[in-house]
Amino acid sequence: MKLNFESLLEESLKFHGHICPGQVLGVRMSMLGLKKIGIEDPKGKDRKNLIVFVEMDRCATDAVQSVTGCTLGHRTMKFMDYGKMAATFLNLSTSKAVRVIAREDSRQIAKKHFPGNEDKYETQLKAYKIMTDDELFDVMDVDVKIRSEDMPGRPLKRIKCDICGEYIQDSREIVREESVLCRPCAEGGYCSCNNQDFLLQTAMQKSHNGLKIKSKLWIEIEGEPVFGRGRRFLLEAIDKHGSINQAAKEISISYKRAWSYIKAMEERLGVSLVERKAGGKNGGGATLTKEAREFLRRYEALENGIKEIVDERFKKIFWRGGKYV
Ligand SMILES: [Zn+2]
Ligand SMILES: [Zn+2]
Repeated sequence: MKLNFESLLEESLKFHGHICPGQVLGVRMSMLGLKKIGIEDPKGKDRKNLIVFVEMDRCATDAVQSVTGCTLGHRTMKFMDYGKMAATFLNLSTSKAVRVIAREDSRQIAKKHFPGNEDKYETQLKAYKIMTDDELFDVMDVDVKIRSEDMPGRPLKRIKCDICGEYIQDSREIVREESVLCRPCAEGGYCSCNNQDFLLQTAMQKSHNGLKIKSKLWIEIEGEPVFGRGRRFLLEAIDKHGSINQAAKEISISYKRAWSYIKAMEERLGVSLVERKAGGKNGGGATLTKEAREFLRRYEALENGIKEIVDERFKKIFWRGGKYV
């Protein structure tokens, strides 16, 4: 299957709703990007091998979606809010990736192709169809590391925000010392809520005076703690990054401390939890053993269940007339 400019543009116009220079640029940008990473049939046989990062929410973005078939909903299109006329095309099967950026001087070159035409919009529309790839774009080979929680497929994780109580998928939570928060609760969100009951409730939960239930769970052997929330996050981070170093960074502890936690856990539980591999690019990797995964799975099931029960009982006993008293 050969990608054909005219028919791709036609399709893109239908999707976007009008013809504009952005459509022409977006179609050409996509064709070039796909060619460079060796994707011939983005909506057919290659559809599981393609991820696109767009750096603008403008007309051209719709053209990229139309040509590549990548969408936010399929998690194959990633929106990076940079305000740049650029997109990166990643071939998952070969890891080859290129970033294509529209050249700033392409507007000037467009004028040269149609001198005397006063209508800038029309000039660009016509010129962007006939200008060479080199006149329109810069292309750079790039490395893209895509995190497992950003891949298409089922969510790897769901966790409840300690403040608003809403669920967060795909590891977008922010872990503070004692709590797990969603981004808007931790950093402020894009909207504010007008519902007074809801505001009151979250204000109560946020304020130090408001009643709030906290429960903590850990497992001990002979009076010595072996496993709890912190160690759970450590193991999960090792699983995610494949590296003790990276995992320690993520949960803001030193490598040495992470190491001593692992050793202590292994000793007290009497099983090996983390397998270390020597060498490699980042000084050796680490993976969880089968036993560690199983332990983690069961601990998560236990902890998630307990929190629901405690919340429920707290509400039943302390919730009166729309608030905790
Ligand atoms: Zn447009
Ligand atoms: Zn929240």
